[in-house]
Amino acid sequence: MKDADTGFNAEDIDTSKPHSARLYDYFLGGNDNYPADWEAASKILKIFPGVKETARANREFMHRAARFLTNRGIQQFLDIGTGIPTEPNLHQIVQQITPSARVVYADNDPIVLRHAEALLQSTPEGSTAYADADVREPEAIISYAREHLDFEQPIALSLVALLQFVIDEQNPYQIVRTLLEPMIPGSYLILSHPWEFDPETWDKIDTIYRQGGTPVRARSHSEVSRFFEGLELCDPGVVISTHWHPDSEMQIRDQQPLYVGVARKV
Ligand code: SAH
Repeated sequence: MKDADTGFNAEDIDTSKPHSARLYDYFLGGNDNYPADWEAASKILKIFPGVKETARANREFMHRAARFLTNRGIQQFLDIGTGIPTEPNLHQIVQQITPSARVVYADNDPIVLRHAEALLQSTPEGSTAYADADVREPEAIISYAREHLDFEQPIALSLVALLQFVIDEQNPYQIVRTLLEPMIPGSYLILSHPWEFDPETWDKIDTIYRQGGTPVRARSHSEVSRFFEGLELCDPGVVISTHWHPDSEMQIRDQQPLYVGVARKV
């Protein structure tokens, strides 16, 4: 695991294949993507025209959930699968409400590491840190987070649009338990996850992502709900993203292929 300060190797970045972080960046309208990503993105757009709207809805859920918990007094966040920075980033949302808030980010993509500086622009009262780390090694992430967060105080663990990249053989449920285990009651889990709105379409999407070396696994409502087992779900439970505490000006969709939820450790 590399700390943001130790830099990165340009050779680590393979732009000849589509990549999940850069595809997501493309769908959000970002600039850090390459021809192989555009080719994969145009295939995905053909079979799933709602993908850009879903990416935006996902990002907006992260904003609402971060505000929701900060307004309830949470001052520490561990955000894994951060993505290429897109303003506002999580720390900007929470430090606007609580300037002393602390945020630890982690992602395993060298491109995200290259942009980590944007994630490290903390308020002077608060702090941000970035680890180049893989969620499939949760103990390493926790030990990095311990250097920056106070585990005697509640922490919000944010796994937003990440666990679809952890297939069943890699024990995603155990990973989430391992991450939450050292956190005290009153800590929270923020999670979003695509669901298989149409299995045939998902098969095609999976094939495109596999070409970039990362399979994607959509999960059903009950499979997504299992991530919250043993926790106390905040209202309205595990729902389609735009149904979760919508802003007044938001368009509500009933068919969005993204489940989200926030739950409290008891
Ligand atoms: N959470 C952000 C970005 C989601 S895109 C948001 O919702 O806006 C998914 C991110 O997860 C990408 O940046 C990708 O690099 C990262 N990712 C995928 N597999 C990962 C893994 N095994 N460990 C850590 N990060 C991973």
